[in-house]
Amino acid sequence: MRLLLFFLAYASIAVSQPMDEDFARLVKEWTTRPEFTSPLVDHLPKVDGVPSPKDVLGYHIGTPKKLTYYADILRYYRTLAGKSPRVRIMTIGKTDEGRECVVVVVASEESIQNLETYRANLGQLADPRGLSESGAREIIAHSKPIYHLMGGLHSSETGPSEMLMELAYRLATEESPLIKGIRDHVIVTITPVSDPDGRDRYVDWYYRYKIDETSEQDNVGGPPLWGKYIFHDNNRDINYSQLTMQTLLKWYLHWHPPIMHDLHESQPFMYTFSGQPPQNPTLDPILYGELPWMSSFELEQMTKYGMPGVWTHAFVDMWSPGYLGFMSSNHNGMLRMYEIFGNSGANTMHRRVVPPPNPAAPPTPAGGGLVSREWYRPLPPYREVDWSMRNNTNYSETGVLSALELVAAFPQIVLENFYKKSRNSIESGKKDPPFGYVIPGGQADGTRVQFVFNVLHVQGIEIGLATSEVKLKEGTFPAGSLVIKRDQPYGRLAKILLVKQDYPDPNLRTYDDTAWTMGLMTHTKIVESADPAILNAAVQLIDSFTPGNTSESYSPAAYYAVLDNGSNNMITLRSRLKNVPVFAVEQSFHSSDGTDREIPAGSFVVGKEYFDQLAAAMNLTGLHAVGLPNRPTVPTHEVKLPRLAIYSTWGNTQDVGWVRHAFDHFEVPFDLIYKERVKRGNLRGAYDVIIIPNQGRGAKGLVYDIEPKGKPLAYTQTDQFKNLGMYGSSEDITGGMGLEGVVEFQKFVDAGGLLITLGEASAFPAEYGITRRVESARPTPQFYAPGPIVQAEILHSTNPIFYGYSEKIIPVRWANGPLLTVPERDREQQVLLRFPGGDQSVLSGLMKGANEIRGRPGIVEVPVGKGSVLMFATNPCYRWQNYGEFGMLFNAVMHYDDLKPR
Ligand SMILES: [Zn+2]
Repeated sequence: MRLLLFFLAYASIAVSQPMDEDFARLVKEWTTRPEFTSPLVDHLPKVDGVPSPKDVLGYHIGTPKKLTYYADILRYYRTLAGKSPRVRIMTIGKTDEGRECVVVVVASEESIQNLETYRANLGQLADPRGLSESGAREIIAHSKPIYHLMGGLHSSETGPSEMLMELAYRLATEESPLIKGIRDHVIVTITPVSDPDGRDRYVDWYYRYKIDETSEQDNVGGPPLWGKYIFHDNNRDINYSQLTMQTLLKWYLHWHPPIMHDLHESQPFMYTFSGQPPQNPTLDPILYGELPWMSSFELEQMTKYGMPGVWTHAFVDMWSPGYLGFMSSNHNGMLRMYEIFGNSGANTMHRRVVPPPNPAAPPTPAGGGLVSREWYRPLPPYREVDWSMRNNTNYSETGVLSALELVAAFPQIVLENFYKKSRNSIESGKKDPPFGYVIPGGQADGTRVQFVFNVLHVQGIEIGLATSEVKLKEGTFPAGSLVIKRDQPYGRLAKILLVKQDYPDPNLRTYDDTAWTMGLMTHTKIVESADPAILNAAVQLIDSFTPGNTSESYSPAAYYAVLDNGSNNMITLRSRLKNVPVFAVEQSFHSSDGTDREIPAGSFVVGKEYFDQLAAAMNLTGLHAVGLPNRPTVPTHEVKLPRLAIYSTWGNTQDVGWVRHAFDHFEVPFDLIYKERVKRGNLRGAYDVIIIPNQGRGAKGLVYDIEPKGKPLAYTQTDQFKNLGMYGSSEDITGGMGLEGVVEFQKFVDAGGLLITLGEASAFPAEYGITRRVESARPTPQFYAPGPIVQAEILHSTNPIFYGYSEKIIPVRWANGPLLTVPERDREQQVLLRFPGGDQSVLSGLMKGANEIRGRPGIVEVPVGKGSVLMFATNPCYRWQNYGEFGMLFNAVMHYDDLKPR
């Protein structure tokens, strides 16, 4: 082995230690053009006793046609940690499919030995209450920032999880001034794969189908599922519904990394996020200085190394707080993000960054979009390129090392900013209204309050239980109300989640939703207070909130009623009372036991002989059972869970996943069916209700789905590919259900089945004539409504769908579903919910062109043959978010036999 000396123009990377010549030679070979690499990553040290990725995996990072399974990734890090005193692994929890989640730490021996001290210091800066300015300065002077890196949140974006292994090795072994500086001044932590379940499924799919791809044209697409439920939306799980995401959040709140850097793949050749408008105004202004500070440094360094196509600004904005890594910005840290050019695998491919001219298509903007020279893209990417996995590695690793170089040069600035943002959050709560929020006690449904409590609390927001009455200018609230004061470290986050979103400029487009206001999404009363007196309200901080549930053993009760106050737990209760006959009262009434208690419509009634089963099943929060002296005299009907199926295409499983997750969570049994089952026919023989969740791409996409590529594309489990064929399997996922499937759905409804369509799927029965007289249309191009919350008006309040809804006007999330039209003669009978429309009906977020939805149906029920079709233009089960709307879907399921328009 030769001792290689690098005497380069860049003193910081001059290094004199033994180098891995095999690495240098192969990396050069795999890099498709000389300018697609940098002096930071064209070499790799060789250190006796410390294993490089190749020593453990058998191949270098960036080897063509090599992707690494999660277990092997962990094996590499464990081997490295076993040999290097600069690397440590912590196990932090489990994924949704039970895989181990870890965080890898790489830093100097000194940092590793004193990790707990550094962690505690960051904890003090994260919550500086009780810390003096001089005390804070003292801590900052003796602390190091944690810089957290994450790869593989999106499973098809395969490069970063490979690169991070090489980065860890380089950081642990290289003795250049650059790397030594990083090691000494920064504590680097790594989530090797943010979605390990999806990683393994994707790597299986890659080896089965994608390994021979040579061009974009023969791309077979990805597997139908990544993780257990929600695919790409794992970066939109704002309420932390998925275990894998909760695991990372718990780790975050214990370690407080001031920077979290999420590595994605899409844009040529590398986009680095700078926090462009629209920007969330509640976040600290310092953050909006830090983001471009760092991205500009990367852009400058990489451009200096001659790497084309690095750009910042444009693309992703700073409005939605729901991205996974945004947990950092939300907690006074900083989310950073890359989009690196990738081939959805490790094959080298010819890529057209700008598609070839298509005479049939409208002209593209001057400059060709992504390859245009802009002030934020001084050295644009090429129009066409041969691109390799190693190019991807070179770009992401050079970018990350540049970011770490900057942080290592200014560690105290990063820490000071983190401290200041935390301090400012507390101070802002003392001087800028709103000063806090009250969730008034005594709300009829405590389970929605509990949901809000849990989502806030899991993110570290302090919530107090009022120990006495709270008097504010907004009203007087009873003891037992929940109080969220803004003068706390995460007071800004509380405001971000609870405030009405006031979108700054209707001409700005945004990357995701414009609204998420929790009170509106969950139908929970939450009062914003501009009264500073709230800061002095007497409260006791609590770590859990459990609404009482009661089941009175009332004697001499003949029947028991479980009050329907709109809790989603009602359907769980029905599910748990398996063999018990349950009836629903169709009208509210007052009990005749002397208490005159109101029993709302939809309340369950069971006979006293079932009291024991009822009491056992009431091991659920927030439900109230009361004894009745006699059987209610109001009309009742039996409540049974139907034989239920949820239909999914193979090409668009994401929104189906959210519905599956909700039904699993509330213990509602269902079959997940695909085109294979539909085409077999006799759906009515097997099911009473079929739900077609929102699945994008309109009615045609729902019917024809993935375009066949000439040979079958099986999603099946084999000895070699154990992660495929989960949550359904198919010998060929292409082709869709086709017209034969449409006919089977028609037969299902004709024979008495209830078909429920959600959001965009509601275009399907309209366009394929199952609901012959309902028309479906798209809004005009001037209409722009990225997920606002709007008013909807209940027109048939006695329909069982609206049991538990006490208001006539309710907030719903706009779903971008079809604009439905029901003919005048059917309207009164069939339209159950409608949108008032107009700007004043927009409660939060942006709807541009709100007049277009004026008077449009929100829910339509159309009798067809012996059955019916229930079309939601809304999506009542959206991302574990519009918790207040779930009840309409659950009611439709539980009362499927009694929904007749009335
Ligand atoms: Zn991504």
